[in-house]
Amino acid sequence: GLPPCLFVQAVEQSPLAISITDAKANILYVNPAFCQVTGYGAEEAVGRNESMLSDRRTPQHVYEDLWETLMSRQVWRGRLINRHRDGKPYLADLTIAPVRDEAGKGLHYLGIHRDVTELH
Ligand code: FAD
Repeated sequence: GLPPCLFVQAVEQSPLAISITDAKANILYVNPAFCQVTGYGAEEAVGRNESMLSDRRTPQHVYEDLWETLMSRQVWRGRLINRHRDGKPYLADLTIAPVRDEAGKGLHYLGIHRDVTELH
């Protein structure tokens, strides 16, 4: 099979912003593209909640739909208005998938997003 380090390199070099969180959206890992898109350094992002990216302009029902979908163990796709570390809003095209560990116990989430402000 593939060497494990290749999996790591592929995620590290992904042009899409990737983050891995615990069940409450607390950030455990971010890749360099995440740092580039959001403006947060990895040391800064890890330990904080994904809600650090939220902008008040996204209606509450969007987040409720997001969590309802995730709680039913499904993949959520959508667009959120995010806020860059410098305060600038951007439109994020986001996919969030639940990740179960091998024992099927611990629940984590994989978040993948890109800035589509220019494309909108
Ligand atoms: P919250 O306090 O999060 O509450 C909003 C609503 O969601 C409430 O109704 C609350 O009951 C419900 N909710 C919150 N947490 C949970 C939970 N653990 N289980 C069940 N229901 C819950 N948000 C962004 O704005 N931008 C992003 O790029 C982004 N990326 C994410 C990536 C991943 C992998 C995950 C898991 C979440 C991501 N989120 C993102 C969602 C983020 O965690 C927040 O829920 C969201 O930003 C709203 O934050 P809030 O503080 O306004 O409200």
